[in-house]
Amino acid sequence: MSHNPTYIKLINCQTWRNLRNKQLKLRPLCEECRSKEIYTSATEVHHRIPVESVRSEQAMRKLAYDPDNLVSLCHECHIEVHKALHSRGKDVVKNKTEREVKSFKGRYL
Ligand SMILES: [Zn+2]
Ligand SMILES: [Zn+2]
Repeated sequence: MSHNPTYIKLINCQTWRNLRNKQLKLRPLCEECRSKEIYTSATEVHHRIPVESVRSEQAMRKLAYDPDNLVSLCHECHIEVHKALHSRGKDVVKNKTEREVKSFKGRYL
């Protein structure tokens, strides 16, 4: 997956393994499947905000170990989420956000 040495260090340690086990115990179902009303057991833990989106080791550590940044996923959904992250350029996200804001204003203001 990742080749960032800091990321690898953060993931290959007992802190992460404990946190990951805790998350899977706490949320044993794939959250992506659950939003489609399918119940699949989660086997992997994903970071909502990618750990590598920040530069300093301290900030990376914070993102990696923040329980609010963790999502339980099944293997299939995890692959899909990462595909979407890669194919979605920053401009696309920005345009989409602007569109959503516009349609929000159109409806409510
Ligand atoms: Zn799933
Ligand atoms: Zn992931």
